[in-house]
Amino acid sequence: MIPASFDYVAPKTLPEAVAELVKHGDEAKVLAGGHSLIPLMKLRLSTPSFIVDIGRIKDLNYIREADGHIAFGALTTHHDIEFSDLVKRRLPVLSSAASQIGDPQVRNRGTIGGAAAHADPFGDFPACLLALDAEFKVVGPRGERTIAAKDFFVETFTNALEPQEVLREIRVPSPPEGSAGTYLKFSRRSQDWAIVAVAAQVTVKGHAVERVAIGLTGMGSRPLRGSAVEQALRGKPAHAEEIRAAADRAADGSDPPQDLNASPEYRRHLATVLTRRALEQVTGHH
Ligand SMILES: Cc1cc2nc3c(=O)[nH]c(=O)nc-3n(C[C@H](O)[C@H](O)[C@H](O)COP(=O)(O)OP(=O)(O)OC[C@H]3O[C@@H](n4cnc5c(N)ncnc54)[C@H](O)[C@@H]3O)c2cc1C
Repeated sequence: MIPASFDYVAPKTLPEAVAELVKHGDEAKVLAGGHSLIPLMKLRLSTPSFIVDIGRIKDLNYIREADGHIAFGALTTHHDIEFSDLVKRRLPVLSSAASQIGDPQVRNRGTIGGAAAHADPFGDFPACLLALDAEFKVVGPRGERTIAAKDFFVETFTNALEPQEVLREIRVPSPPEGSAGTYLKFSRRSQDWAIVAVAAQVTVKGHAVERVAIGLTGMGSRPLRGSAVEQALRGKPAHAEEIRAAADRAADGSDPPQDLNASPEYRRHLATVLTRRALEQVTGHH
């Protein structure tokens, strides 16, 4: 299908992009990698009459560690995250998730900013960013503000941005020594969307689990934290028995959808199995 007609502008700077959004109000949409927006426009599920393409803005594609956090420019592609040595070393949960998003074409064009802003409960980055306590730096007509991940993902396809705001950067606190993470995704076909997926980020000190964060994909209308698992495992030995008992609580408080792929019961089961496997993997118990 061909999208409805629209006007297009490709500003060179963020302030120009914000000015265009202010000028065109609700009619305007930001375009980044286009791998979620364009399909929606082709199906006419989204019909913006004005597109603000931020793809030409310089200095929005970077990954760097400074001042206790790892920062991702909003236009950093899934591919760049997948192959970044810094991310592999410091945040393997994100390289692992990036490598499982769609196919190479999608990973070459899709951006972390777009994937976050799209707020798809089946998207892979949102649950990771929630588990990592990411912060979102956004720019709007009144300047810059910061949104915590727990507030950023509001509902299916709804984020906490005002219509005239652009996401500029995503910051993840640098994990302490002894941290490890992974993202386990279950789908029916290779390269497909998740039925359920689990992000696990754990810090082990001595033999005890000092910090643990679980993010769940596909278990509700937005990404969820596996809070019951976290509570059950924090401070406990990183042993198989404790891990199994904690992982059994992965679906507590979730509201998984029913669709053609899976029933809510099946998703709850998957969440517990994937959480156990992810925790075993990151703590070295197999
Ligand atoms: C065939 C296919 C398979 C896919 N498989 C997966 C998968 O397995 N897992 C997965 O997670 N994703 C998957 N995707 C989606 C892909 O990851 C998209 O790239 C991503 O969801 C959106 O990123 P984008 O840069 O393409 O954003 P766009 O499509 O350009 O934008 C998406 C939305 O975010 C808004 N937006 C974008 N950037 C900003 C910004 N900086 N500030 C404010 N708003 C912004 C846009 O206005 C739009 O509403 C798939 C896509 C395709 C086409």
